[in-house]
Amino acid sequence: MKTITEHLWFNAPTRRAFINITPRVEALVRESGIREGLCLVNAMHITSSVFINDDESGLHQDFELWLEKLAPEKPHSQYRHNGFEDNADAHLKRQIMGREVVVAITEGKLDFGPWEQIFYGEFDGKRKKRVLVKIIGE
Ligand code: ZN
Repeated sequence: MKTITEHLWFNAPTRRAFINITPRVEALVRESGIREGLCLVNAMHITSSVFINDDESGLHQDFELWLEKLAPEKPHSQYRHNGFEDNADAHLKRQIMGREVVVAITEGKLDFGPWEQIFYGEFDGKRKKRVLVKIIGE
């Protein structure tokens, strides 16, 4: 069995962002030479997410509005966690959008359903953060 472990780094210029990371994960699958296996992609911070959805126009604005209704950033004073920080909303948004995805690798490619793409969701940006990619198989 072969395995590779890599990190993707991000430094979003805004507090919140959605970034399509599919091309970067596909490049690692190609580099690995693995034909049949599994690819794990997970956020390594508790205020960012990795999730799979469509790269459709308007959908990311819909996610942003939906998440702001569920866990509005402001006022910061509404959250107990914000006695120490100002990112309680980011912890909650990460919980809803998820920590990781696992995608099958079939014949050397990520075996997606129709329209599926992998996204990094940033909820407390303006600093360096990373995503772990681990690929196993043969
Ligand atoms: Zn916090």
